[in-house]
Amino acid sequence: MAGSYHVVCHECAFEGLYEDSSVAEGQRDAHASSSGHRMSLRDISSQEAPGLSQ
Ligand SMILES: [Zn+2]
Repeated sequence: MAGSYHVVCHECAFEGLYEDSSVAEGQRDAHASSSGHRMSLRDISSQEAPGLSQ
């Protein structure tokens, strides 16, 4: 089962969804190091039913 890793930049429109955590981390680190922006990396593969809990 493929994972889902959501990379988001807090300071520009950069965003990506990746199946591989190492790829997601690479993209996050590449953008963070080149732009100095603050990034978030969320593992959303374990969220089975978003929206059902409040
Ligand atoms: Zn950015």
